[in-house]
Amino acid sequence: MGGVLSATDADVLIAGAGPAGSATAVHLAQAGWRVVLVDRAEFPRDKPCSEYMSPEAVRLLDRLGVVPDLEAAGAVALEGTTVIGARGSRLTGLFREAEPQPFRPAGLSLPRRILDARLVRAAREAGADVRERTRLEALLHDGGAVAGAMVRGPDGRHYPIRARLTIGADGLGSLVARRLGRRHSSVPRRVAFVAHVRGVAGMGSTAEMHVGDAGYVGLNRIGADLYNVALVVPQASAAAARGAVTRFFFSMLEGFPGVRGRVDPSRLEREVLVTGPFASRAGRVTAGGALLVGDAADFFDPFTGQGIYSALRGAEMAALTACGALERSGIASAEALAPYRQLRRRAFAGKWAVERLIGYGMHLPSLFDRAVGRLGRHPDMAHTLIGVTGDFVPASRVLNPRFLTRMML
Ligand SMILES: Cc1cc2nc3c(=O)[nH]c(=O)nc-3n(C[C@H](O)[C@H](O)[C@H](O)COP(=O)(O)OP(=O)(O)OC[C@H]3O[C@@H](n4cnc5c(N)ncnc54)[C@H](O)[C@@H]3O)c2cc1C
Repeated sequence: MGGVLSATDADVLIAGAGPAGSATAVHLAQAGWRVVLVDRAEFPRDKPCSEYMSPEAVRLLDRLGVVPDLEAAGAVALEGTTVIGARGSRLTGLFREAEPQPFRPAGLSLPRRILDARLVRAAREAGADVRERTRLEALLHDGGAVAGAMVRGPDGRHYPIRARLTIGADGLGSLVARRLGRRHSSVPRRVAFVAHVRGVAGMGSTAEMHVGDAGYVGLNRIGADLYNVALVVPQASAAAARGAVTRFFFSMLEGFPGVRGRVDPSRLEREVLVTGPFASRAGRVTAGGALLVGDAADFFDPFTGQGIYSALRGAEMAALTACGALERSGIASAEALAPYRQLRRRAFAGKWAVERLIGYGMHLPSLFDRAVGRLGRHPDMAHTLIGVTGDFVPASRVLNPRFLTRMML
């Protein structure tokens, strides 16, 4: 158990204290391992995200014991999603109407500043040694396996942290994933612009996704009168934003008929954050002495949301595997970490297929519009789809000839 190896500074070094890293730290520290969690940022920090969580993501947060604090901090109940196609088709999927029933009737929305800071606190409370403003800069190796990392602390000083297992939870641009090699980019490559705006007109209790020929816009209420507005466009169109991000953002919004006139530039609450291009996945998520979790392991287009769920679920599986691997002495071997790959495949393969289907469908606006229209006329199917993308209805309920035929014909 933790503490037996004096030659290492930690049993586990985790790079990145977003949901994936903080949750992994909670699980491993609670299991008694010596965990060092580093993040280059100081919390609370912003993160470009639509800040939408399904009831299943809330279930995982509940296991971490943070839900009452998030609700006390103003998290908003989210009943589901309304999708509006480029030619005006519309569907509304409600979590509570899906079968099987979700953990709770509604999901939650709240600023990542609040969510992520609470998760970092949970990691500290569980006993992890959390070091903010500390950047992982290079991996250390021992006999071909990863053996920790060189980090740079808040004072600019470089120092090594030796660990028996190094976990890359360092997000979309993961340095750990790049160093482990074989990181793949996939299409479509898109860029996101995300703002917080007050007083968006006409919002109900579902998030809205407006799909256009040139990308999509998500609207999501994240506080009493605070809204998350996210614009996602192809990388090529995003070039026009250089030097004029805010102007580009608001002018693009006007190109979406269902959004036009609803988002007032004078009520911008937080600067427009830009992220991307995204759509990448790691060729391998484990190696001798290392594994990847969260966006560092894979990232798809955020249309279906749920990256936070994947980060939290991945953290549970990473911790389970890590506990087994660390029971043996020395650096966690590639062989002992291999079961993590199978666990991920089992948990995520269906979801990956549905996300790809939706991502490719958006490339064909008339087909996409037709499918949204059909689902809009069959609310039971819309609820099922929202349950699948919300990770509490099995993907096989959508990925079958009957559902797909009814959706298209
Ligand atoms: C536009 C957009 C909208 C989205 N909307 C949603 C949504 O509505 N719902 C949802 O569930 N998901 C959404 N996602 C996905 C979600 O944001 C991610 O899946 C989630 O943040 C993944 O968590 P993570 O912990 O893996 O990474 P992150 O949250 O990115 O955390 C990574 C951490 O690593 C740190 N870090 C990076 N490099 C280093 C380094 N070298 N050394 C030390 N620290 C480092 C960073 O500072 C950061 O704190 C969206 C994503 C995008 C881009």
